[in-house]
Amino acid sequence: MTYRKLSFMADKSRHYYEARGFSIYYFANAVFNVVKDAGAFLRGIEEILGDMQVLNLMRPFHKFTNLHYFLEAVIRQIIEEEIERRDEHEPRFLIAFLQTYKVSFTAENLASEDDFYTFVSESEAYQSATDDLVDEVFHVFFHDIGFLQSFNELCARYIDGAGFGQELLTQAGTLKRVPIPAWVRRAVFHRDKGECRECKRSLAMVINRLETERYDHIVPLARFGANDVTNLQLLCEPCNLTKAASLQPVSPFYPRAFGP
Ligand SMILES: [Zn+2]
Repeated sequence: MTYRKLSFMADKSRHYYEARGFSIYYFANAVFNVVKDAGAFLRGIEEILGDMQVLNLMRPFHKFTNLHYFLEAVIRQIIEEEIERRDEHEPRFLIAFLQTYKVSFTAENLASEDDFYTFVSESEAYQSATDDLVDEVFHVFFHDIGFLQSFNELCARYIDGAGFGQELLTQAGTLKRVPIPAWVRRAVFHRDKGECRECKRSLAMVINRLETERYDHIVPLARFGANDVTNLQLLCEPCNLTKAASLQPVSPFYPRAFGP
């Protein structure tokens, strides 16, 4: 079934992803467990964030965010692990993924690990399918500030002690403060509904959206936090001053969808 309306919004289409509902909460749950219980998955995490990979976390404000990067690695591991055990059983989940995202493939593409990874590296449709899936799972997490804090604390452990990217670092080894791009301010302002996340004061009338002072690093730069849209929240000036460089937990209060 095609969704016909897309043709009416052709010029806006790059601002949308198509929700396919392919087990996104299953992926989200797996990623949540990895981040919350990082100790148990250390070897896997090391492969994604360790060594030179930490440079990905250090680059300031890219639209393929640190969380996109992490999600892609974990999600691909989940989708692709069936290929390693294809002698034991048919890779049903992988096939369902390919079919849901209309990625053309042949039986030969799944015949061996080598065939499969050649196919993966050559199929643009496969890459764009994983990109879409990552975007859909990202959408779930971007609203979960508690999770974003845990994720950014995990990233901070790797940024602390990174032996690379000296030009991005202060003398203390923390990331330099950089200007916050307009797309980041817009995303955070809208997600937080123009309110200080801590005291719930409305900032809509107070701040000029061009100001950057109210955009607080959830894991402070001084604690090896990243310059990433997933590491920012809206805070009013008094709350921001109180917080300073402490690792104060994020507010667990979210606005209800509608009043009581
Ligand atoms: Zn406040």
